[in-house]
Formats: sequence, C-alpha cells, structure tokens
Amino acid sequence: MISLKEAKSIVQKRISILGVRKMDIEYLEGMTLRENIIATFPSPRFDNSAMDGFAVRAIDIKNATCENPIKLKIQGISSAGIPSDMVIGPGECIQCMTGSEIPRGADSIVKVEDTSGFSDNNFVKFMTPVTKGSHIRKKGEEINKGELLIKKGTRVTANELGTIATFGYGELCVSRKPRVSVFATGNELIEPGNSLGKGQIYNSNLYLFKDLIKKAGAKIEMSEVVKDDKNSLKLFLSKALKNSDLVISSGGISMGRYDHVRDVLIELGVEEHFWKVAQKPGKPLFFGTKEKKIIFGLPGNPVSSFIGFMEWIWPVLRDIMGGKSKKTVYGILDEPFPREKKMHRFLFGEVRYRNNRLVCSSTRKIGSHMLTSALGANCILESSPGTTPLYPGDLIKVNLLPWKTIK
Ligand code: AMP
Ligand code: MG
Repeated sequence: MISLKEAKSIVQKRISILGVRKMDIEYLEGMTLRENIIATFPSPRFDNSAMDGFAVRAIDIKNATCENPIKLKIQGISSAGIPSDMVIGPGECIQCMTGSEIPRGADSIVKVEDTSGFSDNNFVKFMTPVTKGSHIRKKGEEINKGELLIKKGTRVTANELGTIATFGYGELCVSRKPRVSVFATGNELIEPGNSLGKGQIYNSNLYLFKDLIKKAGAKIEMSEVVKDDKNSLKLFLSKALKNSDLVISSGGISMGRYDHVRDVLIELGVEEHFWKVAQKPGKPLFFGTKEKKIIFGLPGNPVSSFIGFMEWIWPVLRDIMGGKSKKTVYGILDEPFPREKKMHRFLFGEVRYRNNRLVCSSTRKIGSHMLTSALGANCILESSPGTTPLYPGDLIKVNLLPWKTIK
C-alpha cells in the first residue's frame, strides 16, 4: 500500500497531454481551450451611441429648456450597421440609434426622450442641455487590442462563448476529447428495469460513471457490464485498450476469488504502477498504463467507485485535456469527522454558507456500499491520516462536486 501523495505523483508522471484539434464555434461548449484568446480589436471597435437619440454638438443646445427649446436641423440617420458619413456642423444633428457609429463633428448623444422625437425628419427640438460626451461608448473603453481575454486551459461555457463570438473567432484550438471505456463487473449485476433474482443487485455504477465521463468533457467509447470470468474480461479489455485513451473498471479489482480484472490487465500487457492506496473508501485502486493508455481499476462498492472517480479520474481527464487545476477549498466542520491512523478518509459532504463562512458536515450514511450518502451532497470531504477525529471548528478539505452549488 502506498500513500495518497505518492500515488498522485506516480499518476502525474505517467500521464501525458492529448493532442489538439481545431473546433468550430458551434461545437466549442464544454471543450478545453488549448490557445490563449486575445482581443483582435479594441472593444468597442468604434465610438458608438449607447442610446436611441440624436448626435449633437453639446455647445449648440447649452441653453435649451422646456420653455425655450432649441431647434436643430436633422442631417440624416446613423443606425447600427449603417453609419452616416455626414459631418455635422453648427445648428445640425443626426438621428443616431443604439450601437451606431458617432458621426464626425458630434460630441454627445441626447436620448430621444429628451427631445421632440423622431416624427419630424427635418427638425428636432431639444428641451435640456447635454453634458459633453454623454451616452457615447468610447472606442477601447472595455478592452484594448491585444489584451488577453481567456487563458488556455479554460473550459468553454456560456461565459466564454459570448466573448469568443464577440471577437469573431469562428474556430479555436481545443483538446481532443479523451475516449473512455468503462465497464462494471459482477455476476450479481442486473440492469434497472428488470426483476431481481436471489442474491442479485442492480448495476448502479455504470450509470453514474457514464454521466461523470460526459460531465468531465470526455467521450464514452465503450460501456458494458462484464461477467466475472477471464474470457469475457479479456474480450472487453483487449478491444477497450485498442480504442480508448482511458479504461476504467468498476469492481473485480480486490482480493476476491472472482476479482480477475488485475490479472487480465497484466496478461494483456498493462504495466501496473500501484494497486493499493492508503485511502478509505477505495483502498484497492489499480493504476496502470499501456503505451500512452491509462487504466484505472476502482473497487465496485458504489461509494468507492463514485469517490474514486472524482478523486482520481476526474483530475486525470482534466489534466490530459490541458485543463487548469482548481484551488483547494477548506471549510469549517460543524460536527466531528472520522480520521484513519494511516489512511486518507473521504466522505460525501454538504458545504453551506453560514454567517459568511463555509461550514460543512458529512452526509449521514458512511458505509462504502451506501450510495444514498451521495443524495444531498455537494462535495467530498477529505481528512488526512491522524489518530484523533477532527472536531467541530476544525478545518477540512472540501472537494466541490463541480456541477453542484453552495447554498
Ligand atoms: P467488487 O469490487 O467487485 O468486489 O464489488 C464490491 C461490492 O460492490 C459488491 O458488493 C458488489 O456487488 C458491488 N458492486 C460491484 N459492481 C457494482 C455495480 N456496477 N453497481 C452496484 N454495485 C456494484
Ligand atoms: Mg465483484
């Protein structure tokens, strides 16, 4: 058995970053950027109107009041996409819509509500003066040309997509999606929707794994329930090892008489780097490689499988796509948390804000077979080894489940 730290460093040394591909903006959502996104022009790109109104010279209407409105001659219209090439002089103005270029000669925009309106195409009356520069969005006031907008390693969401489109990028360099094959093993496993026989249980792990793989931004290549016999395992694994960047097993990796996954992997030429890690749940954890392919064997107990995926496979998928690692978050325990003398301890937890502090506790059921402990959880809590439990008020590491929120 090796320490968690040692195991993590072995994994880091054995994994390598995947290749890149160009991706059309239509399909960028969820992809990891492999290039920095730079402003190709200043934003706004030109001085433009923030209001529907009139472009004027402020000096021309400085004495305007409701009682003594000032009348200016309308020289034309500047609308979004169709700028006016007129230059306005003393006593003149131009109708100017939101987003349209400010005509030469004008220094301010008066919003239409402060005028006699758009109904007359020749003249308009102004009832109030305007401060010079009003309602003009200045060229470059948001972003200068050449500024870094989005760092490589960022995963694209709606937040990034808008800016990517704003600066005209039609395609970008992203990581190719890791191809992941996943299988559950066990003669006892039955698919949900069917009736159970004596000693049988429903296969839950494959369903949660398939969702986690997609959430992590990877592609499911193969996913199957495989019987606990060497031939079936060999059949699945030899194909999976050919077609995938990463192979994950749930179950069949421990010390049981029917746990054949490790033997079959080794027979198929997988190099084992470790098989047991000082962590609970999930001590039997196989990590191997075959050329650049990565293989993880997680124990079948559903909580061990789920937590094992989040602690080991999620970060590996992120790293091989060139993603950025997350900052470690700590919360304050509001109830005791168990520790193991020599092992890291993980439990599903709930973290919440109380009086501007992050407070957390584990969810109720702590057995590694008790998958309902994931219901209501928004994080995995992690304690390092120690001889005493952690107590209320102690800090604990909080690994947020990325798709959950803190309330
Ligand atoms: P194993 O790691 O194969 O020894 O399995 C450990 C425990 O997890 C056993 O109780 C299995 O029945 C259970 N188990 C294994 N695979 C699954 C699965 N796909 N879904 C639910 N439970 C499973
Ligand atoms: Mg089994």
